[in-house]
Amino acid sequence: MLNLSFNKGKVVFIGDLHLSADRPDINSAFDRFLANLEEIEALFIMGDLFEVWIGDDIAEPFALELANKLKKLSTQFPIYFTHGNRDFMLGKRYAELSGMTLLEEDQTIDLFGNKAVVLHGDSLCTLDEAYQKFRRFRNQAWARAIYNALPKMIRRRIAANIRANSKAANQGKTYEVMDVTPQAVTDKLQQYQVQWLIHGHTHRPKVHTLANLQKRFVVGDWYEQCSVLTIDKNGYQLSTSPL
Ligand code: MN
Repeated sequence: MLNLSFNKGKVVFIGDLHLSADRPDINSAFDRFLANLEEIEALFIMGDLFEVWIGDDIAEPFALELANKLKKLSTQFPIYFTHGNRDFMLGKRYAELSGMTLLEEDQTIDLFGNKAVVLHGDSLCTLDEAYQKFRRFRNQAWARAIYNALPKMIRRRIAANIRANSKAANQGKTYEVMDVTPQAVTDKLQQYQVQWLIHGHTHRPKVHTLANLQKRFVVGDWYEQCSVLTIDKNGYQLSTSPL
């Protein structure tokens, strides 16, 4: 794991943008967001930047354009990327093109003296056993290698099937099953001996204050609005603005 510590400018966290070619409104909102970043020490993209990621070798034109913009910004400040459950196949090639540093599933950071762990958040939804089972499967190196070796057409079909199945399955799941569990949150804070958890995935933006003044920061999705968490020496701000 990287050793990351920030104490100068703004550290910005976003996730769940779910960018795709058929949502140009989100793409342009993200362009505006990137163009207006100032006094930034680091940008964390905590997964599900893309609605779907089939492979670096079949990146869509809008994703390649975005890579150029990110690459330019990455000369000003580091951009870190955590995989989400939609773009878990995003690989080294696209990361290099876009100047993003790929993080492990959990990344601990020091934020102005506060210890935090950054993650997508899907690993905290432990009541969703079917999904957790799939997650363990697709994290296996052999499963990923086989998938990446398949022809593009087959990979497109598999991705479409996974999305359709997940959509159908999610319709039968309750609000609780789709959220993090208190136990998983406690375990994660304990595992890394940190005070803060920072994640997305659940699309339920909020700053939760837990026992012992621990905090859980949840950034929201960008389907209907932009959700951004900014942390600097003065504190934190979880903001929402129109697309
Ligand atoms: Mn997600």
